[in-house]
Amino acid sequence: MSVQFEDSFHRKFYYLRLSITDVCNFRCTYCLPEGYKPAGKNSGFLTLDELHRVVTAFSHCGTSKVRITGGEPTLRRDFTDVVAMIAAQDGIKKVAMTTNGYRLEKNAQQWRDAGLTNINVSVDSLDPRMFHQITGENKFHQVMRGIDAAFDAGFEQVKVNAVLLKNLNSGELPAFLNWIKDRPIQLRFIELMQTGDMDSLFEQHHQSGVSVRNHLIANGWIMKVRDQNDGPAEVFCHPDYQGEIGLIMPYKKDFCSSCNRLRVSALGKLHMCLFGDYGVDLRDLLQDNAQEEALVARIQGELLNKKQSHFLDQGHTGMTPHLASIGG
Ligand code: SAM
Ligand code: SF4
Repeated sequence: MSVQFEDSFHRKFYYLRLSITDVCNFRCTYCLPEGYKPAGKNSGFLTLDELHRVVTAFSHCGTSKVRITGGEPTLRRDFTDVVAMIAAQDGIKKVAMTTNGYRLEKNAQQWRDAGLTNINVSVDSLDPRMFHQITGENKFHQVMRGIDAAFDAGFEQVKVNAVLLKNLNSGELPAFLNWIKDRPIQLRFIELMQTGDMDSLFEQHHQSGVSVRNHLIANGWIMKVRDQNDGPAEVFCHPDYQGEIGLIMPYKKDFCSSCNRLRVSALGKLHMCLFGDYGVDLRDLLQDNAQEEALVARIQGELLNKKQSHFLDQGHTGMTPHLASIGG
């Protein structure tokens, strides 16, 4: 192994979030409300060979988990090949994906067979009409069948992401809790994050996760002890429930102290943070296997510039127009 990726605040990076496309077929109100529009001319998304070189360099520097994201990553025709390529890398123990779930029903087994170990599916509402309203797509039942297909394919747990949205899904906590009573689902409520393209949506719909946390604690849910490699979610369990609840509250003080992740965008830019001001181009060093040393040196150099916090709580949104652009 080359040197473990570490920043000046002694945070170690075991986890790579790898975006493989910006394109998406949904129109979530908080992400791509008008659907995907290409952001000017570009040289195309990273090829399978380029992705391979990214993952090899990261795995040689201590990365053990890769999450494939986007845009909607499953829109790529070579998605299964991407999974298989990452799973075949020495040192990578977890190959995860985040998806809107629209292809899960058809492909869960194929992806599992290719080496996918973890799935996160986004489901913002259990009410089909509200799901349609939030995502712009009338695909609630298809996504639900997809989650069933993931269990049938052998995934022991599925994580479900729901963005907390005041006046939209905020009354659904009882329904969500009921849903995970007998299902091994970790339901993760994510606080809405303000991005560059967002206008009044944030003021209208941001809801703090504290109200959910208070409800859970008052109803016998217990916060699980965190593992050293755990991400920023607070996870709660309950003896009467098979499922768990995760709370992701990026506006909370100290949210960044447990940061263990780096991001590479679909255009080959390294991002130190979802809310950074710039990305560092890696693509010129992804053209030949012999460039790995130079690639690692560029990443290590950039790690010294990683800031201690995203400063979101001070209204800083960085350059990110929406999360589909660098992989949420
Ligand atoms: N298309 C896939 C999906 O939706 O699962 C993967 C990419 S999406 C950008 C990743 C996650 O980011 C989703 O769970 C989505 O709900 C979440 N997300 C997107 N924009 C967000 C925002 N402004 N605040 C909080 N979460 C957001
Ligand atoms: Fe697409 Fe995911 Fe963004 Fe929704 S959150 S628009 S599914 S990339």
